[in-house]
Amino acid sequence: MIIDGKREAEIIRSELKKEISDLKSKTNKTPILTVILIGEFAPSKIYVKNKERSALEVGINSRIIKYPENVSEKEVLIKIEELNKDKNVSGILVQLPLPKQIKKEKVINAIDPSKDVDGFHPINVGNLSSGYKSIVPCTPLGCLLLIKKVEKSLSGKHAVIIGRSNLNGKPMAQLLLQENCTVTIVHSKTKNLQHECLKADILVAAAGKPNLVRKDWVQDNAIVIDVGINKVGEKIVGDVNFDELKEKTKAITPVPGGVGPMTIACLLRNTLECFKAHQL
Ligand code: NAP
Repeated sequence: MIIDGKREAEIIRSELKKEISDLKSKTNKTPILTVILIGEFAPSKIYVKNKERSALEVGINSRIIKYPENVSEKEVLIKIEELNKDKNVSGILVQLPLPKQIKKEKVINAIDPSKDVDGFHPINVGNLSSGYKSIVPCTPLGCLLLIKKVEKSLSGKHAVIIGRSNLNGKPMAQLLLQENCTVTIVHSKTKNLQHECLKADILVAAAGKPNLVRKDWVQDNAIVIDVGINKVGEKIVGDVNFDELKEKTKAITPVPGGVGPMTIACLLRNTLECFKAHQL
């Protein structure tokens, strides 16, 4: 089975659109997502544009605040403080990566955790790892929703996650632990990666290394979720050799068209949750 992330994301977006429209008729209010974009890094500009377009499609207003590459950390922190206080702003997102004069931790920590649509604030990270209600990072949330489309109960499954970033690997592990999986995280210092991956009922690859996961790394009937986005020549590929694995696995996500569309859908979902928490 090839998991159609584009279709799943469309379903989420149409549900969000309906809910946002219902809320608007009741409250006369609309969620507002504010994105801070610093510099001219081309992929960031594309990501932000896509986020804005997708937000507008479901009825979320989007505001992009642009700064030049050399903006000071102080100026950005003052703006975040202003947005934190603005009752009309439902969600705040600072597009990463940041220029070197701006510390990522400082910026993330400055965002009001209840408006932190990326789920990166330490309060949200702590809540997630404590099993409390929290805003969950969009990509791992999207991966979980895709896995649960294939298998409703994940209890007792062995999940192996390649990568331990705060963005992907670590929150993915927390989400799968909450689903009662046995979780292994592997990374660049893991000794026998293939041996670990072969134990997986569910394999999530988030290393950013094209063609890392080959046919003989995965047991038959595993669910394989490919988070990687790698540019190889003119092509975008994941971390998994899709052609080798597609016949062997129980279910697999393609790249593109797998996890990527779910990430944006989950960002919109998080924005709506933040809006509801503030307005209702
Ligand atoms: P990251 O911060 O660079 O983390 C990569 C992780 O993979 C690290 O933990 C690293 O180990 C591990 N790793 C790297 N090479 C490895 C190898 N050969 N064997 C085993 N582990 C290895 O990357 P990220 O931000 O998590 O992103 C990962 C990938 O997901 C990238 O391709 C990114 O573009 C993509 N991504 C996709 C989406 C989406 O919506 N689909 C969203 C975000 C990111 P160490 O910790 O030991 O260095």
